[in-house]
Amino acid sequence: MRSVSVFGATGSIGESTFDLLMRAGGPAAYRTVALTGGRNVARLAEMAQALRAEIAVTAYDDCLPDLRAALVGTGVAVAAGFAAIAEAADRPADWVMSGIVGAAGLVPGLRALRHGGKLALANKESLVTAGQLLMATAARYEATVLPVDSEHSAIFQALVGEDMGAVERIILTASGGALRDWPMERLADATVAEALAHPNWAMGARITIDSASMFNKALEVIETREFFGIEPAQVEVIIHPESIIHSMVGFRDGAVMAHLGAPDMRHPIGYALNWPERLALPVARLDLAALGALTFRAPDEARFPALRLAREVMAVRGLAGAAFNAAKEIALDHFIAGQLGFMDMAGVVEDTLVRVSSQTRLGNAAETLEDVVQMDHLARIMAAEAAKKRVKGR
Ligand code: NDP
Ligand code: MG
Repeated sequence: MRSVSVFGATGSIGESTFDLLMRAGGPAAYRTVALTGGRNVARLAEMAQALRAEIAVTAYDDCLPDLRAALVGTGVAVAAGFAAIAEAADRPADWVMSGIVGAAGLVPGLRALRHGGKLALANKESLVTAGQLLMATAARYEATVLPVDSEHSAIFQALVGEDMGAVERIILTASGGALRDWPMERLADATVAEALAHPNWAMGARITIDSASMFNKALEVIETREFFGIEPAQVEVIIHPESIIHSMVGFRDGAVMAHLGAPDMRHPIGYALNWPERLALPVARLDLAALGALTFRAPDEARFPALRLAREVMAVRGLAGAAFNAAKEIALDHFIAGQLGFMDMAGVVEDTLVRVSSQTRLGNAAETLEDVVQMDHLARIMAAEAAKKRVKGR
């Protein structure tokens, strides 16, 4: 029986993963090693019982009493805290879902790779903050990283049986997010609720807002560069409002392979779960006649400064990704808390990158976990200061 662990089980990716595991037979089909969550301990306990997990871990110490109470007498062990989550990743499992949101997902993913199994990577922040380290760790322990981000899963699938040397370009599609049709001058006043109204995908709150600002696509451009090892100039972005084509690969003979499907994360998660097999999945089938047309437009970089910043980050590489991601997380925290305007998020990230690069050499080739963690901390402090200044300046 295959063993699995799910990090970030109570999130949007975690729920979809849980759904697929339960449909496949739950504890009759998989041995669940660890499930982790954050504040939603009631749900974590339910899932742990349904899958008969060996251990359930919450990221927060103050949530431990509730988790313990919910699982008393069930035989599921409990633990709390960041170190306990990392330790849960030390328990070997054949397949591990990396579904924590933010840079907090990096360490558990790195630790899980040491068992040489399969890491289904939804946590794109890992590749953005420490892409070289993550891929080198996977290679060292002969582990397999399977992309779960829909675009990267699409690219991965389009590349089956292909030679990377024949790839000319990768075209990432972007829905454009909730505010894609807003006039430019209104964007500065966009509220959290407005940025959360995603037209096609139901996802966690943070990635949904990142979709509206295109920071999500900026992270994905970097993720593409790191995961597929291609040059930044080979990565293109196109707005595709219907979210039916999940991405495309262009080859040197001019052919373009596109991956199409309903916008349902259970497809890329299920593909990673069953890889290298392709098994039946409970996703809606496309009705192309009903869709009628698929449309495309070029992204406007004035509207989406995040894309330009991603190019700058890729040009520097090294620790620039760690600084970029950390600054973005802080800017997003401030926007969600109502302390920063929607368009000011990119300003905070840019201010942080400028300041950090004036103080340290970001393009340092040696990317160790300590370097990454230090850069992450430094950028968070600087981004919080930049956010404060922007508020005052308004
Ligand atoms: P959610 O916010 O829905 O879920 C995040 C999960 O991580 C929850 O289980 C949450 O616990 C837990 N968590 C939050 N903070 C911490 C922390 N500091 N330490 C440990 N655990 C924590 O996010 P999503 O599921 O939307 O996204 C997860 C990852 O997948 C992100 O990297 C995202 O970019 C990526 N992704 C998501 C897609 C989607 O469709 N949702 C699509 C493509 C990629 P709790 O809720 O209990 O507090
Ligand atoms: Mg995506």
